[in-house]
Amino acid sequence: MMNRVTMIMAVCAMMMGFAACDNASYLSANMQEIESNQEASEGVLTLSSDGKKFEIAHSPEWITVNLADSVLSYNIVANDTHEVRSDSIVVTCGGMSLCIPVTQNVKATYLKVDQESVSFEKEGGSQTVAIDTDGGNITTEVTGDITASVEGKTLSISAAANDGGSKSGEVTVKCDEFSAKVKVTVKGSMCARCKGTGKIKCPACGGSGSQFVSSGGECGPIGCNRCGGRLVMRGGGPRGVDLYSDGTGRINCPDCKGAGR
Ligand SMILES: [Zn+2]
Ligand SMILES: [Zn+2]
Repeated sequence: MMNRVTMIMAVCAMMMGFAACDNASYLSANMQEIESNQEASEGVLTLSSDGKKFEIAHSPEWITVNLADSVLSYNIVANDTHEVRSDSIVVTCGGMSLCIPVTQNVKATYLKVDQESVSFEKEGGSQTVAIDTDGGNITTEVTGDITASVEGKTLSISAAANDGGSKSGEVTVKCDEFSAKVKVTVKGSMCARCKGTGKIKCPACGGSGSQFVSSGGECGPIGCNRCGGRLVMRGGGPRGVDLYSDGTGRINCPDCKGAGR
């Protein structure tokens, strides 16, 4: 069986055999070859010659070719054969022939995503990322607590509402031997009162860790036991005042019980 190049050369040689009626000295096109992806496509190329009349001597059955003077337009149907196919368009003019090889791919030659990361609020939801590829067989792999689906060239990523801490995941988009990753983060629910820290300013000492008190006509700072100060002396003062070491100035947030969310 002849390989592709041999076959194209044979077709060209056959066309060369046609008799020359008006002798052209050259015949060329502004494209050396046509390469298309799996999908249906169309294009135009321009022929040049000093001959009188261009003619189509050969075109593949999966390409529709039209000639209008020196302008050759072509429509390639989608390649559903699952195999790369190659043929040629042969143009003649003035006894010369020009072979324009055509190759139609089935596999992707590139793959890109228009966002490398997406972020969700704690409410979750769905977001889309555009996929750019000439391949048709797009698949996804997912890690983390998210889901992903592909429709056409659009990747949809969904995340459920998150009442825990923030989460992350990743979607890998694949097409033939190409892959692209989209990082996903889902914000966690956060306590509005303590902004997720789990702590608020101690209301007893205002955050200073010690209180200024007056007792029995004497005043001075004593530690704050509300926010962690420890009893260091009891009844040792002149008026029997309990003395505490300084506290931290912070107490557990009463809204979230110190959990922060
Ligand atoms: Zn305090
Ligand atoms: Zn809180």
